[in-house]
Amino acid sequence: MLQQTQVATVIDYYNRWMQKWPTLQALAQASLEEVNELWAGLGYYSRGKRLQEAARKVVSELAGRMPRTAEDLQKLLPGVGRYTAGAIASISYGQATGVVDGNVIRVLCRLRCIGADSSSPAVIDRLWDMANVLVDRSRPGDFNQALMELGATVCVPKAPLCGECPVKQHCQAWRRVEKELAFASQNLFGKPLPVPDVEDCVGDCPLCPPATEPWDSSLGVTNFPRKASKKPPRVMRTATCVLERRGCHGAPEYLIVQRPSSGLLAGLWEFPSLPLAQDLQEEKEREELADHLQAWMGRPVAGKGLQFIGEVIHIFSHIHQTYVVYSLHLDGDVTLDPALSPSRWVTEDEFHASAVSTAMKKVLKAHKKQCRKESSPVKSSKRKRGAGSACPGTQLSLRTFLRAPTAP
Ligand code: SF4
Repeated sequence: MLQQTQVATVIDYYNRWMQKWPTLQALAQASLEEVNELWAGLGYYSRGKRLQEAARKVVSELAGRMPRTAEDLQKLLPGVGRYTAGAIASISYGQATGVVDGNVIRVLCRLRCIGADSSSPAVIDRLWDMANVLVDRSRPGDFNQALMELGATVCVPKAPLCGECPVKQHCQAWRRVEKELAFASQNLFGKPLPVPDVEDCVGDCPLCPPATEPWDSSLGVTNFPRKASKKPPRVMRTATCVLERRGCHGAPEYLIVQRPSSGLLAGLWEFPSLPLAQDLQEEKEREELADHLQAWMGRPVAGKGLQFIGEVIHIFSHIHQTYVVYSLHLDGDVTLDPALSPSRWVTEDEFHASAVSTAMKKVLKAHKKQCRKESSPVKSSKRKRGAGSACPGTQLSLRTFLRAPTAP
C-alpha cells in the first residue's frame, strides 16, 4: 500500500484491510470485487489485485508458507519486485540483503557522487551492489529501515540537513562542498590556492555526470541524484454518461458497468464510458457516445438528448485523462445486452460503497452539482444554455472554457 502512497493516506486503508483479512488464508478467500471495494480511492489498483493473487498462491501452491529469501519472494509471488522482496526478506526474515528505493537512491548517489541518470541500468545495478555490501549482517532489517529513514528525514531532496547527518564524514558530495567553501575562503584572504582533489570523471564512466552537465556549485550536494527528464503523460479523452432513473422509493439510481479484468483500473466499476479520439468536435463526441449507449441498451438514444455536464480532469500516474461528462434520465427500465460488460443499478450510497475509482466519484460529484443548480430557483433563470452549459466548480479544460455557448 505504501508504494507511491503516503503513510497518512494509507493508515485507514491498512487498518480496514487487516481487520477484514488478518491472515493470508482469509485474503486468499476474498474475491477481486471485495479487494477492489476496499482499495477504492487508494489508486494503483493492480497492487491490491496482486496482493490477493499472491495470498492465493501461498495458500494453494506453497502450503501456506511464505517464501523467506529475496530471491524466492521475487521469483514465486506476483507483484513482488526487487525492492519489496528485499524489504520483506530483511525486515521480516532477517536475510542480509539490501533495499534500494527512492530514498536510498538519493543517499547513495550523494555518498558516492554518482551523477549519471539514476534510473539507468548501470546506476541501478551499482546501487544494488552497494546496498548489498553495506547492509549490516546482524541487523539487516534495522539497517535498511535506517537508510530509508535517513533519506526521508535528513538527506531530503531539496534542503538536506548535512550538518546533522550521521554519515557526513563518508559523504563525497558533502566533502566536495566543504572543500569548495575552504577554497573560496582561502582565496578571499589571499592565501595560496590549493588545487581541489575532487576530480570530475567525464570519460566513458557510466556513473559520473555527463560532460555536458558538470557539477554546479550553486546546487551543492543536491547536484545528485540526477534523473533523465520524465516522459510527458499520455493525454486521453473519454466520454462518460451518468445514466439515471428513479428507484422504487423515488431516490435516483445510477447505472454502472464493470471494466475488463486487465489493464487500467481492472475490474473497477464506472459509468458507461467511451474513449474518444483527440480533437473531435463536440457534436461528433456526443454522437459517438449516443451510438455507444444505443448499441448497449438496444434502443434509440439521440445525441441531442444527452445533457452536457462538464469536463472532469483526473491525473493518473502516466495519463492525463479528461472525462467529458454527459447525463441521461431514463424512464422505466432498460434491457441491457447481457453479452456486454456486467452492469448494475445502484443508489448513491451503493455507488460510494462499490469498487469505483476516485475519477468516477468526481464525475458523480459534477453531475450532482449540476442537478442542484437546476433545482435552485434563483440560478435556474441563468441556466438557459441548455445542454452545453458546464457545472460551476467543475474543473474546466481550456477547450470547455473557450467553447461558444450552445444555441438554445
Ligand atoms: Fe546526504 Fe548531506 Fe548526509 Fe551526504 S552529508 S548523506 S548529502 S545529508
